[in-house]
Amino acid sequence: MNFAGKVVLITGASSGIGAATAVQFAKLGASLSLTGRKLENLTKVADDCEKFGANQKPLLVVADVTKEEDVVRIMDETLKKYQKLDVLVNNAGIIETGTIENTSLEQYDRVMNTNIRSIYHLSMLATPHLIQSVGNIVNVSSVNGIRSFPGVLAYNISKMAVDQFTKCVALELAAKGVRVNCVNPGVTVTNLHKRGGMNEEAYQKFLEHSKTTHAMGRPGTAAEVANAITFLASELASFSTGVSLPVDG
Ligand code: NDP
Repeated sequence: MNFAGKVVLITGASSGIGAATAVQFAKLGASLSLTGRKLENLTKVADDCEKFGANQKPLLVVADVTKEEDVVRIMDETLKKYQKLDVLVNNAGIIETGTIENTSLEQYDRVMNTNIRSIYHLSMLATPHLIQSVGNIVNVSSVNGIRSFPGVLAYNISKMAVDQFTKCVALELAAKGVRVNCVNPGVTVTNLHKRGGMNEEAYQKFLEHSKTTHAMGRPGTAAEVANAITFLASELASFSTGVSLPVDG
């Protein structure tokens, strides 16, 4: 895999899977545009990218993917710096717990706006540039995009939409040379669940439980998911599009 001369835009690059993906692409020679809501966290990731061989300082775009003007700015600033886009990694996401009996419309909107509407919007803006570069999109879905898990209704719906979006747009853009794939991670050790409201004790129990729900007896790491993302974005996956790739032990 070699991304020298390729421009890669990653959302949610300030933490977890997005941060590990940024470092992995940096190691493979990509020029990076990294987005998240907190400059301090993005700066730390950019420092890691440089440490591991980024050929130039990543562009950092502080932006909220649920805000339309921010999404437009992500694309504008990326094109202004690099004049092209080769790979879009739609990774930013949140989880919220709740069932049909106790998920408010406000929660539903927050999860859907972050996890799928933002992907729709950014991909829409990126598409003409990806057609031009014969580039590709990798979306970060979840095992929840393939099957339902109880207690996270809005999250399940949002991730199933990510898989459907992946397959639909893959069909629409295949003839134009643009591939669209997604990864479906199982439980991965990041900040996602704690930020979604789990306290430390509940999170440790959740990780312990994940040893019994993954055949390999452990949760995954962000780097393992990043490896699958870079593979799908690379020329090694040149005949794969519309794929939902489980990374779930
Ligand atoms: P983290 O919480 O560690 O990272 C989430 C990233 O998304 C952060 O960089 C965060 O940036 C960004 N983000 C969230 N909301 C917004 C927003 N409104 N605007 C801009 N950026 C936003 O979690 P993960 O690394 O685990 O999550 C990455 C993806 O992986 C998500 O889509 C998640 O659903 C998916 N996933 C995770 C699994 C897991 O077990 N961890 C399993 C399966 C899928 P910031 O808050 O700084 O703005």
